Amino acid sequence: SPTVGVLALQGNVREHLAALAAAGATAVPVRRAAELDAVDGIVLPGGESTTMSKLLDAFELLDPLRARLRGGLPAYGSCAGMILLADEILDGRPDQHQLGGLDVVVRRNAFGRQVDSFETDLEFGGLAGGPVHAVFIRAPWVEKTGGDVEVLASVPPVDGAGEAVGRPVAVRQGPLLATSFHPELTGDRRVHELFVGMVRAA
Ligand code: GLN
Repeated sequence: SPTVGVLALQGNVREHLAALAAAGATAVPVRRAAELDAVDGIVLPGGESTTMSKLLDAFELLDPLRARLRGGLPAYGSCAGMILLADEILDGRPDQHQLGGLDVVVRRNAFGRQVDSFETDLEFGGLAGGPVHAVFIRAPWVEKTGGDVEVLASVPPVDGAGEAVGRPVAVRQGPLLATSFHPELTGDRRVHELFVGMVRAA
């Protein structure tokens, strides 16, 4: 089975490790460059992207991670992880680092104060077995996507006429996957299975 790392500086590390193991991967925490060298794919968990950016610096992981991403390492970013993967962010802090690679513009804390956390069921492109229950916690959304980016889910999913509207909250570009929400917090393993499948295919 593929070895999939979880960046273990902050955030829902244990939940991602458990979800990846359930999805058929050998799941390992990554805190050092040597551990990063040993993985076939990596999950960037939710947390706080500005804090994560500082910790990436402190643990000297920023450049090694950028280098592996440039080399085609499959990566899945959830929430703060999506922010880190984005080529461009809005409402970021001027000193916060991007890993980049995902050709999107992402807005931090996009849903605003009133609805800063919520749950909803989403149609998720390519996943069999019905909608995904999505937990959003001070989540970003995707405001702009490049030509190679596939939108897998949006909020709200459709308008009254059944047209897809709203903001992308799950996207894929080649070996990169990102969601605004936290599938590691529900028992549904399909998003992690999708990612483990991407790692296997890479
Ligand atoms: N609001 C956080 C940030 O900007 C992300 C929240 C999350 O990961 N749950 O980094």
